[in-house]
Amino acid sequence: MAVGPGSVAQRAARIIAVAPVGRAAPAVVRHLHSVLEDTFGREVIDAPGLPLALRAYRPARGQWLATDLLDALAPTRAARCERILGVAEVDLFVPDLNFVFGVADAALGAALFSLARLVAPRDPQRTLRRAATEAVHELGHTYGLGHCKDPRCAMWFSNTLAETDRKGARLCARDAAALRRATALNDAD
Ligand SMILES: [Zn+2]
Ligand SMILES: [Zn+2]
Repeated sequence: MAVGPGSVAQRAARIIAVAPVGRAAPAVVRHLHSVLEDTFGREVIDAPGLPLALRAYRPARGQWLATDLLDALAPTRAARCERILGVAEVDLFVPDLNFVFGVADAALGAALFSLARLVAPRDPQRTLRRAATEAVHELGHTYGLGHCKDPRCAMWFSNTLAETDRKGARLCARDAAALRRATALNDAD
């Protein structure tokens, strides 16, 4: 394929980097690649892992402030990558919520979720499905998708694992169309 000077920059922007944060299981991180490629129409690459930012830890709660981890992750996004997704394995929270599965910031082009509450000890396939679901959800936010009223859409806001299992990693038709519009706009930049 012939590639002109303009299209090099364009093509370089169509990359989602996935980075383990702390000790996230590499097998789970790898599993995300194909799901994210299919959903977002982007090339997905491994980014170097980074350690947990200790300033995010709150000993009184035994939890990690998700936005602090996201702020540490975001600057590690290479310029050639459109988005970076961090995969952690510690329990996350934000103020006013007991816990969160993940967090996203569209302006930073970064999202993060944790496996801490997703692991199904006797059902590794279920763990992978949950991880894919949360990865799509948080990255979906970075492409401008909000929460969805369809309980079978990945953009449904899960309060419980049962809801995560019910919704799965697929976007409803409306959100899939919104994502196509958002990514097409990025492609035209
Ligand atoms: Zn959400
Ligand atoms: Zn939806």
